[in-house]
Parts: sequence; structure tokens; C-alpha cells
Amino acid sequence: MEKDIKAMMMPLYKKYNLQLPISQLAEAAGIKMDDLPRIPDLVNKMGKNNLCYNHVLGKCMHGAKCRFRLAKGHINGDRLPAQFVQEICGALKTGVDWCEKNDVQVRKMGQWAPRKRKATDQ
Ligand SMILES: [Zn+2]
Repeated sequence: MEKDIKAMMMPLYKKYNLQLPISQLAEAAGIKMDDLPRIPDLVNKMGKNNLCYNHVLGKCMHGAKCRFRLAKGHINGDRLPAQFVQEICGALKTGVDWCEKNDVQVRKMGQWAPRKRKATDQ
């Protein structure tokens, strides 16, 4: 994993053991998955992202079956563009901080209970 990304994610590794879905992290940061920075080489002709954010930000649970992996979207940290690293850290840092301070329940697959971040939450 890229060192700056690893440094940012470290509190969540300790707390959630890599089990917190990136979608929940994005939600906590107040953004959608579609708002995450992309790597131009990994956006297909339809404008769909092919980068596996789970792999970039920790561990992809889908392994060999990951649809992004098939699209060569499992990029190792040392191959990530520096600008992308900067952007994704900027985009998710507030979400990491928020999840660290608040007890976020890890959402199970298929379970959808949106819990909007409130301005009053610390
Ligand atoms: Zn993956």
C-alpha cells in the first residue's frame, strides 16, 4: 500500500481490521463513491471507473473474483500517480477522522441503513 494512504488509513485498520467498506468511509467524508478521484488510465470508454478502491485503500475482499481486478484495477501503491494519492487522501481524510471518533457499525453485504453525517456530529 502507498505510504501516505497507509498512514491515513492506519487508525481504521486498528479499529476495524480493514473491514470498513470504502462506501461507508466515503459517506462519512460526505462524498459518493463516484466523487472519489480517478486514474484516467482506469476509466473505461463508458466513463466507468475500473480502479479497485478496496485494493488501493487496504485489502480487496473479492480477491481473484474482483471485477476491477479483471480490468487491471488492482494497482499497487508504488504505481499510483502521486497526484492521485494526494487527491484521495484529501477526499477521505475527514471520513477517516470521523469514523475514528464515532462508533460506526460496519454494514454487512446487502444491508443498507444510510446514516447521514450531521453537521453537529463531532
Ligand atoms: Zn478488488
